[in-house]
Amino acid sequence: MPPDAPVGNDRPRLGVSRCLLGERVRFDGGHKHDRFLTDVLGRSVEWVPVCPELEMGLGVPREAVRLEGGEAAPRMVGVRTGRDHSRTMARFAAVRVRQLAGLGLHGYVFKRRSPSCGTARVRVYGGDGAASRRGRGLFAAAFMEALPLVPVEEEGRLSDPVRREAFMERVFAYRRWRALAAAPTRAALVAFHAAHELQLRAHSPERCRALGRAVAERTGRRPAALVASYGAAFMEALAVRATIAKQTRVLRCLGELCRGHLDAADHRELAGAIDAYRHFRAPLAAPLTLLRHHAEKHRVAGAWGQTYLAPHPGAPPPRDRV
Ligand code: SF4
Repeated sequence: MPPDAPVGNDRPRLGVSRCLLGERVRFDGGHKHDRFLTDVLGRSVEWVPVCPELEMGLGVPREAVRLEGGEAAPRMVGVRTGRDHSRTMARFAAVRVRQLAGLGLHGYVFKRRSPSCGTARVRVYGGDGAASRRGRGLFAAAFMEALPLVPVEEEGRLSDPVRREAFMERVFAYRRWRALAAAPTRAALVAFHAAHELQLRAHSPERCRALGRAVAERTGRRPAALVASYGAAFMEALAVRATIAKQTRVLRCLGELCRGHLDAADHRELAGAIDAYRHFRAPLAAPLTLLRHHAEKHRVAGAWGQTYLAPHPGAPPPRDRV
């Protein structure tokens, strides 16, 4: 598949630990089927399944492995035989990650706690047999080091609706940024930043301002370099948690933009929905749905076209965002 090839019905393309899709690739011949991934998320993404241990030649069934040694550079060894697979994994990961980069993944869902796939809190056993929980699976580490902007998440965390929403928001934002990076011009970058301004402010107003300054600066840098450095800071900003206080400020800002188009009843309804959200009495979708309706109906300048109103293209406003 060529880089950034159109996929299915234009769904984002996500890497996934293969055992999570229900395939029997674990060391004991079992799987770790995650129904949310296959039955819910799978409807709107294209999966690229990867099982590093199987693909590097360990087979099924195989001896279980674990991480041993220092947390900074642990070794992957067989639990029973102590056989060291670290170098094989490093060679395999270098090649496979390059292939995955060529596929233009927009995100990756890893199996938690795995010595190959876990992104954090993986057990690393010291010489005394005691384990810390500060390791990272060797394949996941290679992927995240080579492709630091690609949003990654673990399947267990995706059962939390807020984390799930934050992950999907970053996946779609990353995909839009990649489209920009494929045809970078200064005008396109200015338009991109303008469309994402409120989404960025919901995560980090400071970083949003810094990004705005970077876009406005006339440094003579080539558009490709500008878009590349913007992308890194953009994805970092979206990784900052969007709190209720920051969301409320953005909602009120949108409310002000819409104000001139609303009658008294509409305005009261919108203000009430924002207030209910702020006091945990309603999900974010309540004021967001109203704002989207008003912004679309009246084509409100500064509001209509903001990615904040529809972080998932073509999808209804998420019900679980808080
Ligand atoms: S956690 Fe990773 S290495 Fe282990 S079975 Fe699943 S996909 Fe394969």
